[in-house]
Amino acid sequence: MNFDWQNIDTVLLDMDGTLLDLNYDTSFWLDHLPAIWAQKNNVDLEQGRARFAPIFVEHAGTLNWYCIDFWSRELGLEVMDYKRDLAHKIRYRDTAEAFLARCRKETNDVRLITNAHRKTLDLKNEITQINRYFDQTLCSHELNRPKEDLLFWPALDELQPFDPERTLFIDDNESVLEAAHAYGIKHLYSILEPDSRRPRKTPSKFEMLARLA
Ligand SMILES: [Mg+2]
Repeated sequence: MNFDWQNIDTVLLDMDGTLLDLNYDTSFWLDHLPAIWAQKNNVDLEQGRARFAPIFVEHAGTLNWYCIDFWSRELGLEVMDYKRDLAHKIRYRDTAEAFLARCRKETNDVRLITNAHRKTLDLKNEITQINRYFDQTLCSHELNRPKEDLLFWPALDELQPFDPERTLFIDDNESVLEAAHAYGIKHLYSILEPDSRRPRKTPSKFEMLARLA
């Protein structure tokens, strides 16, 4: 993808589904954790999934959804203890590292902006060393609101100012892109296949990237 680098000073990047394969997260939340919960509670996998479904619906898009501590309390499981079980699935999407290297060449303000919990970022960084590509890494918990929240964006600017007109932001989450758009971020892109094992389900009103670089 040829981005308009001449007119970009700041690059904001999502992690899961954008730089890293979302398959780790979908496998963990939809298969692995329900299976563990079912086993611990002596029920079958379908009953385990049924326990998760209403919580998913109720908390989608909120900070709780992304909070390891919330899920640990809700399910009576130390979620973080199991995250390493699927560590072999934590991997870059194709061309993500080449793209990150390019970002570093083109600008000197490259930020990771993730809804993932800091504990999850630490685990993913341990495996991929993703932090080395960034001037800053921010977990939305640290601003007390997820990226879907319109107030996340002015809070991000307060932390370190950026010009929305001269900012590139890539994220696989449509609601997050909508919020960034409402804030006035100009160069916005979505991801065609965030999960290497699942087809993209919904179209986006933003340009969807098949490859980052
Ligand atoms: Mg994402």
